[in-house]
Amino acid sequence: MVNLAGIVPLSTVDMRDKSAIVIFFSGCPFRCIYCQNYEYLESKNPVELDFVKEHIDRAAEFVDGAVFTGGEPTMQRDPLKELLEYSHEKGLITEIQTNGCDYPAIKDLLPYLDIISMDVKAPLNAKRYGEICGIDERFAERTVENIKSILSIKERKIEVKTTVYKEFVLGDFLEKIKEDLPKDIDWIIQRGNDERVPPNFNLTPLSDDEVKDIAKILSKDRKNVWIRTRAGDERIS
Ligand code: SF4
Repeated sequence: MVNLAGIVPLSTVDMRDKSAIVIFFSGCPFRCIYCQNYEYLESKNPVELDFVKEHIDRAAEFVDGAVFTGGEPTMQRDPLKELLEYSHEKGLITEIQTNGCDYPAIKDLLPYLDIISMDVKAPLNAKRYGEICGIDERFAERTVENIKSILSIKERKIEVKTTVYKEFVLGDFLEKIKEDLPKDIDWIIQRGNDERVPPNFNLTPLSDDEVKDIAKILSKDRKNVWIRTRAGDERIS
């Protein structure tokens, strides 16, 4: 069984330059202040794995890949592993979208994973991480260490995503994240918005042009910086 939040049979925006089926897992141990999948965090919808496999079978005829997202998919490691393996056997490119809280799970899933898309939501220190993710400092400490370990994986393509709001541009927030990331990694600066957000949300969205200007500044001495806005993905450097 898998606690499933939903399936999008065909997406052209979730796996870069590829079409993909997107499978949303329920549940997440974080409570990020801007979570846009808020309704998935505690939803309960257990379904048989065969139900998901049937969707994968149908999608495999016309998509390039399968994206597993959430929520936090590594929270359901066993069903995730089975579905990743199944997708691989079908010849699909597999991608996981993770918050990086569980490095041992990612290591375990690696044989069936082609792309790791991981959030780096704040500078990699426990206090700042905990504030953004709504988790206590001990959990934030473990998460920061797990994220660093995932960033050191060499055998797979890793892309990092950072969601930005106007408040995050102040001070050294983004420059500190930049210092924490390997120089050659794909880094996506994603425009945060104010739809489907938690009740206590009080951040200010940036315009697409503002996100682009920020990414240009951040990309001065590094390659592979992208933006993700309402217009889609755009490479900045
Ligand atoms: S990690 Fe993702 S799904 Fe979980 S609370 Fe944060 S934004 Fe929401």
